[in-house]
Amino acid sequence: MNANLTSLFWKGFSVSSCTEMTPDTLLIRLQPLTSQPPCCRGCNRSTPHIHDTSLRRVRERELLNRKVFLDVPVRRLCCSSCGIMTEKIDWLPERQRYTSTLSAWVESLARLLPIKHVASLTGLHWHTVKNIDHRRLLREVHEPPRHRLRRLMMDEFALFKGHRYATVVADADTQQVLWVGEGRSRAAFRPFFTWLGPEGCAAI
Ligand SMILES: [Zn+2]
Repeated sequence: MNANLTSLFWKGFSVSSCTEMTPDTLLIRLQPLTSQPPCCRGCNRSTPHIHDTSLRRVRERELLNRKVFLDVPVRRLCCSSCGIMTEKIDWLPERQRYTSTLSAWVESLARLLPIKHVASLTGLHWHTVKNIDHRRLLREVHEPPRHRLRRLMMDEFALFKGHRYATVVADADTQQVLWVGEGRSRAAFRPFFTWLGPEGCAAI
């Protein structure tokens, strides 16, 4: 592959080789571009001083119907302000076994489809898809403003077609869901009123 083209996908790296792990899985090995010194994750400054390098294997988004794994040499740097620190790779969050491109793709699928379907479509584990979607929700959904709540609505629904129930509380003015908890007893939704606090409760 052309190094200029691949550097569009994996900033700071070029492709050193590409092999078939299985007929439907590719392994792409990357190498750091010598023209770009790595950046410290702590302070964002670039440094040429490399402490050591370790290989990380991560999942990338599919390429032409093939699953893709990347072998990425990740460097630890001797930073003059932070000490020994891992390099910052824009497209690969730390301690994550998949790239940002893959998580962005999974996020958009999870907006449209149930987690189970996204997992079978992408070949990722259900928990991996769930974690990606959970992080999206933490990023996008903000805690409702307690002090502005005036009218509430509550409903219950059955879980797993069975005899277990969950209670949902929503803001009657905005229809925003505020809280969901298992059970339908008084005790089950006590945590909601604890969250609301005495002042919040008094305003309802
Ligand atoms: Zn630093």
